[in-house]
Amino acid sequence: MLTMHVGIDDTDSPRKGCTTYVATLLVEKLSQLGVSFIDYPNLVRLNPNVPWKTRGNGALCLRFRCDEKLANEIMELTIDTVEKNSDMDCAGTDPGVVFFQGSQVPEELTFFARQTIQGLVKLQEALKLIRAVKAEALGFNSGRGIIGALAAVGETLSGDNTYELIAYRVPENYGTPRRVDAASVERMNQKTAPLTFNNIDTEKRRVLITPHGPDPILYGIRGENPAIVKRAHRMVRALEPIERWTIFRTNHGTDAHLRWVDSIDAVFPYQSVIVSGTVTREPQVIPRRHVVFSIVDKTGQIDCAAYEPTQDLRKAAQLLIVDDVVEAFGGVRPKSGKCPVTINLEKLNVVKLAPKVVFHNPVCPLCGKRMESMGAGQGFRCKHCGFRSSTLKKETVEEKRLLKTGLYVTSPRSQRHLTKPFSRYGLEKSGKSVRMASNWFWVNG
Ligand code: ZN
Repeated sequence: MLTMHVGIDDTDSPRKGCTTYVATLLVEKLSQLGVSFIDYPNLVRLNPNVPWKTRGNGALCLRFRCDEKLANEIMELTIDTVEKNSDMDCAGTDPGVVFFQGSQVPEELTFFARQTIQGLVKLQEALKLIRAVKAEALGFNSGRGIIGALAAVGETLSGDNTYELIAYRVPENYGTPRRVDAASVERMNQKTAPLTFNNIDTEKRRVLITPHGPDPILYGIRGENPAIVKRAHRMVRALEPIERWTIFRTNHGTDAHLRWVDSIDAVFPYQSVIVSGTVTREPQVIPRRHVVFSIVDKTGQIDCAAYEPTQDLRKAAQLLIVDDVVEAFGGVRPKSGKCPVTINLEKLNVVKLAPKVVFHNPVCPLCGKRMESMGAGQGFRCKHCGFRSSTLKKETVEEKRLLKTGLYVTSPRSQRHLTKPFSRYGLEKSGKSVRMASNWFWVNG
């Protein structure tokens, strides 16, 4: 028996397909061949800030044990399934498949996966590593999908991880509005949250489990374990047929993309970072109602932007003042036109509030009314009794801050797949062990 890891990425295009669906088909076909899976299919979201991302930027890995004699057949079956279900004719769809045999995933693959989830890697690096660890890879078109496929093999989700049950539509419904009973999603949310997350946008009462594109997904339910997403799935009333469903183990909602950066001069475009600094420029509301402010440390200065759809986060950003200490979480956007390198905020941790000091004119010592300034350095005059003074000074008053320290997160509807929502704080796992439920991959298959 040998252990095999099959990574797949970038089979979809903006007009059709979904790599999770290709993986689902492959799970069924491999099961028929008699392989035995050692993990749920892994759905690994990669750095959402890379310039060439596919929709959602998710790569897949299937891990199983099989008879050595089956290895060739498995590879052929995989390639065939990817070819038949990828949108190969679409420019920018560059599928990649990686095969790795071994009971242990080498450390350098895990390290490579981290780089791919948090930063930028080149196809050359992936190809070099594939040779080094004796994996095999196939690239279609430009082959860029090999990067994600290799990363999916390398990311064994041994740290914090979550699950997603994805239900698929029948092909005749692709591209039509999704029909799911919203009230049933509300009920499911009430019964299963916070063990499930991002089901509903509580602010706008909008269902978040259904995507909007032409892809085959009817809905996806995210949660902490396989049992809860399966239970939640049974509570949701679909008003159209479900072709099949699969439970994936994922890095959704784990902040896996964010990397602590020690100093502002180490922040580079396309990374996903957490960096701390002191507010050095008051927030400004710029066209289309974004809020932009700057933070500084000993090494440099950088802009941070909170976008309109990010709601609470944007409101908090607007209340910052110079000298507040914050941690900025988000993707780094490169310089473009007049805009400098900017962190697009996903989260903001307000660590320390600076005192907000306001200056008032002194009170008249004779009549007790507020005096007025006669100009810079000219002293004060009371317009009620006529008293003048060149020695009185402005009073300093500390005003109450409306902003509170703490973490502010984008609203669920604008969260990335990888963003850890508020509801998951405290639920993180180091989950080394994976228990397989029976009957986990499909219905009406
Ligand atoms: Zn007076």
